[in-house]
Amino acid sequence: MAHPFVTESNILHRDMRCEHLKVVSGEGIRYHLGSGKSISDATCGPSVSILGHGNQEVTDAIIAQLGTIQYVYSGAPLTSEPSEALAKFLLEDRPGGLSKGIFVNSGSEATDAALKLVTQYWHEIGEPNRKFIISRKQSYHGNSIGSLSFVDPCYSFRAKKNGESDAAYVERLRQQLEDTFQRLGPNNVAAFMAEPQSGTTLGCVTATPGYFKMVRDICDKYGALLVLDEIICGMGKTGTMHAWEQEGIRGPDVQTIGKVLGAGFVPLSGVLVHERVFQALVGGSKALLHGHTFQAHPLACAAALAVQKIVRRDNLLENVCEQGLILEKQLRERIAPLPYVADIRGRGLFWGVELMRDPQSKEPFDRSDNFCGKVVDVAMDLGLNLLGSLGHSGELQVDHVIVAPPYIVEEADVVEI
Ligand code: PLP
Repeated sequence: MAHPFVTESNILHRDMRCEHLKVVSGEGIRYHLGSGKSISDATCGPSVSILGHGNQEVTDAIIAQLGTIQYVYSGAPLTSEPSEALAKFLLEDRPGGLSKGIFVNSGSEATDAALKLVTQYWHEIGEPNRKFIISRKQSYHGNSIGSLSFVDPCYSFRAKKNGESDAAYVERLRQQLEDTFQRLGPNNVAAFMAEPQSGTTLGCVTATPGYFKMVRDICDKYGALLVLDEIICGMGKTGTMHAWEQEGIRGPDVQTIGKVLGAGFVPLSGVLVHERVFQALVGGSKALLHGHTFQAHPLACAAALAVQKIVRRDNLLENVCEQGLILEKQLRERIAPLPYVADIRGRGLFWGVELMRDPQSKEPFDRSDNFCGKVVDVAMDLGLNLLGSLGHSGELQVDHVIVAPPYIVEEADVVEI
């Protein structure tokens, strides 16, 4: 391995097997290391830095905010200009009926806020029995909750049977989901939660056509809320502002966002709430029973507002779609023929490459091979930052690397990556 084990750092690093390379500055899609070497950031970190590094406009917006008010506790009765402006900017078109926002610091907090909101919703409207959240195996919604994994994900590459049509596969998943509702008691289910495009666990898997329509219909049939986790796949990553827009559904009741929302300038995540859910709170206790010391932080909101204004002004979602097509072509022509490459899937600028010991028979690597980690190490030696899976995802071993370059990427960068 290129980076020897060291113990000098006082940080308890997540991976203790390697030396961590210190990034001292950044520019565009590149990180500059203390050693003088530069690295192309092919994944925006864990899918965050969509404007690349060192954007002056966003930096100026943060400095301007620092010059006015750096912190407001948005509990009650105070709020701040940038948080109000950001919520207005994101929700002025009421996408899918989403009309209110909550801003928190991390995706994990957003998941917690979303699930507490769902529980509160059912209390407010007099159905406190609705406590169960159905989610999918091999999903990741954050660090702070135990994911409640009840049903299978939509993962046609590994789960679809030979000769099975898309429709038959979705029907099989529908049956399992309905069985789960019946087992828990339909009136006990508060919500179904899923990522519209799976992120770090399965590696950018897109849903089989018709899957989310089926999920929306089942939620409606049993009165449960649909919570979509767009923390990693949302805010333009797949080519539309919200990933669910490509699934032909009217939208979720609650949606989480994060990562690219503030593009990593200051941490920020959020929860978007459908007007119907909001009305239940207004018609009930008139309070959201959730809060954090640093919620809706003015610096984070000012940074995110600047980021999102740039995305809109510079038509960056068009670039996501254009460069996404180039990235797909490059992956299919140049990466797909390589040994161990089993599947390539994605949308926009959010692509996953699944690796297997034998792609033909779909035999995965052993967990102990850490194959994916080795690929990421080799890429790093070559000056490319990729996001690798930890390999195992619940019952399945899913080695994959994610390629998710910034929205500002140009064709030459894509080809190089
Ligand atoms: N949800 C999804 C889909 C994620 O990919 C992540 C992080 O990767 C999270 C939630 C948790 O976000 P955070 O790491 O900001 O807590």
